[in-house]
Amino acid sequence: MTAGVAPTAVSIAAEVRGGTRSARSVVEEHLARIAEREPAIHAFNLVLRDEALAAADAVDAAVAAGDDPGPLAGVPVALKDNLCTRGIPTTCSSRILEGWRPPYDATVVERLRRSGAITIGKTNLDEFAMGSSTENSAFGPTRNPHDLTKVPGGSSGGSAAAVAANFAPLALGSDTGGSIRQPASLCGVVGVKPTYGVVSRYGLVAFASSLDQIGPFATTVHDAALLLEIIGGHDPLDSTSIPSPAPSLVDVLDRGVDGLRIGIIGELAGEGIAPDVLARLHEAANVLEKAGAIIDTATIPAAMYGLSAYYLIAPAEASSNLARYDGVRYGLRVDAPTTAEMNELSRTAGFGAEVKRRIMLGTYALSAGYYDSYYGKAQKVRTLIINDFAKAYEQFDLLLSPTSPTTAFALGAKTSDPLTMYLNDICTIPSNLAGQPAMSVPFGVGDDGMPVGVQLLAPLQGEPTMFRAAAVLEAAMKETSR
Ligand code: GLN
Repeated sequence: MTAGVAPTAVSIAAEVRGGTRSARSVVEEHLARIAEREPAIHAFNLVLRDEALAAADAVDAAVAAGDDPGPLAGVPVALKDNLCTRGIPTTCSSRILEGWRPPYDATVVERLRRSGAITIGKTNLDEFAMGSSTENSAFGPTRNPHDLTKVPGGSSGGSAAAVAANFAPLALGSDTGGSIRQPASLCGVVGVKPTYGVVSRYGLVAFASSLDQIGPFATTVHDAALLLEIIGGHDPLDSTSIPSPAPSLVDVLDRGVDGLRIGIIGELAGEGIAPDVLARLHEAANVLEKAGAIIDTATIPAAMYGLSAYYLIAPAEASSNLARYDGVRYGLRVDAPTTAEMNELSRTAGFGAEVKRRIMLGTYALSAGYYDSYYGKAQKVRTLIINDFAKAYEQFDLLLSPTSPTTAFALGAKTSDPLTMYLNDICTIPSNLAGQPAMSVPFGVGDDGMPVGVQLLAPLQGEPTMFRAAAVLEAAMKETSR
């Protein structure tokens, strides 16, 4: 079973709003699919069966009463388990949050509810979103629905797998260095990292606050556009939220790419990228060219240093953000005679190996005497990347690259070597460092038959243009599979 065979969010909502299909039947159908395949895939930390059915009944009652439940009426949505849900466990796939129930909903959760969407479950992730394969979850890995011996990517692997397996037509993830786009690519679905500040981070458990951004997973570009319109837009509860409404995306999807200048990022289209992934990238460029775009090679020289800068900045911010898990305020506590010992034992027992590695890296990078040579230098590289993008966008409207250097790899293949795992993020990290939007669009398969995604990148708030190009690529894929 692959993505695309089940109805889209747009079609489900149209039927439910029009009263031709009940939200209950939609939810029941998705729960049945979950019952069948979830034991093998493990996309979810928690399936909210009863809550989803109750919410569906409320949507149906509203329709029966002549009310409009909203643009996502009756549409099941899977939420990455680092998004706060009031009264419902939110674990970040970490032991340290065991038993914690947030007292409030994330802004995105609130906006989904108001649009008539139905939360169907909380999805698995790499612990605190640190990883690229979902193997760093304290609750066991998620498997790729296209091949159960392969990883789904990460850290939002559960959300990507849930959409790819049709457990829900929509899901939310978070993307700090690629955690929406890379799993979307490996699972053959659409994944979007919006411009920093377009989607409120209120209620997203912080990993690296200057990089984190919530975004959609969907089986179609149209569904992803609709979901981003619903969750985006200013939120006074997030001080970094851009004070303007969500971008209009659905209305521009059919505008094409005629006359757009699109640059293939040279530094990300050569060494280190698998030949089959490169082949799909160039085919995507040809499709855009045939649709009227002007294709050339772009250069982001500092992109090469993005990975090194990210693995200083993200751990530095994480070491600060994760200091709050001290055994007092959240979840797990291991008692000890002194507070300091209690803190230490709780953190030792509660965090997994990768989280500990990041906290140590980050604390080191921020420590007196090293601050300038590590954290300070990484921030300078960040500025260089921003400048390189600014120069490129003088010449181009959009940029194009692979999303991930390879298709999905086997479970266990990269767990013993953190550096090889980190290399997965080489194409996705630059956009996070620059705060710019980027998305992965499924574009065929690799030599192993596994999905390949191509990445579209745009300047700040360039989502409308980015989605236009995504729609062109998607239409071409539909043509070839006909
Ligand atoms: N894989 C990257 C990391 O491990 C990115 C994670 C993310 O985007 N949350 O940090």
